[in-house]
Amino acid sequence: MEIINIKDTSNKLYYVGGVVRDELLGIESFDIDMTYEGNAIEFVQNNLQNLQNFEILQINEPFGTVRVKTDGREVDIASTREEVYEKKGHLPSVTKIGCSLKEDAMRRDFTINALYKSAVSGEIIDLTGGLDDLKNKTIRVLHDGSFIDDPTRIIRGLKFSIRFGFDLDEHTKKLQENYLKNINYDMCCKRVKKELIETFNLNSQSAFEKFIRQKIYKLVTEKDVSLPQENIEELIKKYPVENVWLVYAGCIGDLSRLPLTKNEQKILDDFNATGELKNDFEIYKAFEKVSRETVLLYGILKDKSAAERYLEILSRIKIEISGEDLLKLGLKPSKKFSEIFDYVLLKKLENPELSKEDEINIVRGII
Ligand code: ATP
Ligand code: MG
Repeated sequence: MEIINIKDTSNKLYYVGGVVRDELLGIESFDIDMTYEGNAIEFVQNNLQNLQNFEILQINEPFGTVRVKTDGREVDIASTREEVYEKKGHLPSVTKIGCSLKEDAMRRDFTINALYKSAVSGEIIDLTGGLDDLKNKTIRVLHDGSFIDDPTRIIRGLKFSIRFGFDLDEHTKKLQENYLKNINYDMCCKRVKKELIETFNLNSQSAFEKFIRQKIYKLVTEKDVSLPQENIEELIKKYPVENVWLVYAGCIGDLSRLPLTKNEQKILDDFNATGELKNDFEIYKAFEKVSRETVLLYGILKDKSAAERYLEILSRIKIEISGEDLLKLGLKPSKKFSEIFDYVLLKKLENPELSKEDEINIVRGII
């Protein structure tokens, strides 16, 4: 772990969560989270803000958190806090700022994410059995109401199980099952989407298999979803895409609860609008203007050989003549142009070796 140069004579400042877990696992962390046992905002304002190379970036008063930049690194420093989930599955409200470490630990998602490391002595503080669970590769919630408070933790559990090769503890698995059986959809779907993106972007077939077999998809749709036959991970490795997560999510079918961007919605709409494709020309016309994500979805859910034929062969074929060439041949701009281009394309798909000269001759032949 990179040492953050923050002096704390009170010995109440701790690294917490992913950064402690990852150090113990010997892997690099995405971000650095710290907790101050007390009021973090006051601590930073009173003790740190005049230090060299130190800057307060953002203060979130209701949550008692402050984002700082120190020696070029951004760090979130939170106050120890207790929370209640007044509306289940939505952001909680803070009921107490400056509580004990134990109380702070209990609001977290899993024991492996509730380890603290003193910023002064480096001592690890384990109040919930996180060290044992790390050793035993186990993901365990901190209390029985955890998934009811925040169902996005179910997807987080899946994400961590894939990232680290861990399993859910048996009781946690039961709690998950019970939650999914009795799910109501009064939750924040934006947060569900965020966790789905992080999980599916791992491009892991086994994550998706768990997602289907354990019925985690119930967080997204009430409908039943079955596992497609194709191996999505392999397809994406062969044909990389920008929105990996959406290829997986698209296989769920009904994403109407998720807040999608225009582009994401278009990828799904294009897929839904594509029917049976009977020949190279139909394949080409269906896929020429859509995203590769759409083509992959089509390959996974409808017709793999058509999608692969497009990605491997047809997508490389382009006709060379343009509108200008047609004008030079004495044609006047009209709707006919696109019919002519389609005809030349048809011929070129039959014989990709055609040169531009050949294409012009084809046009001459039909005018
Ligand atoms: P990553 O390596 O993906 O960043 P992380 O464990 O650091 O994993 P963050 O999302 O950065 O995850 O959150 C930091 C910490 O905040 C977590 O380790 C956990 O203690 C707590 N936390 C995050 N999300 C939740 C949640 N939905 N419910 C409870 N605690 C959470
Ligand atoms: Mg983190």
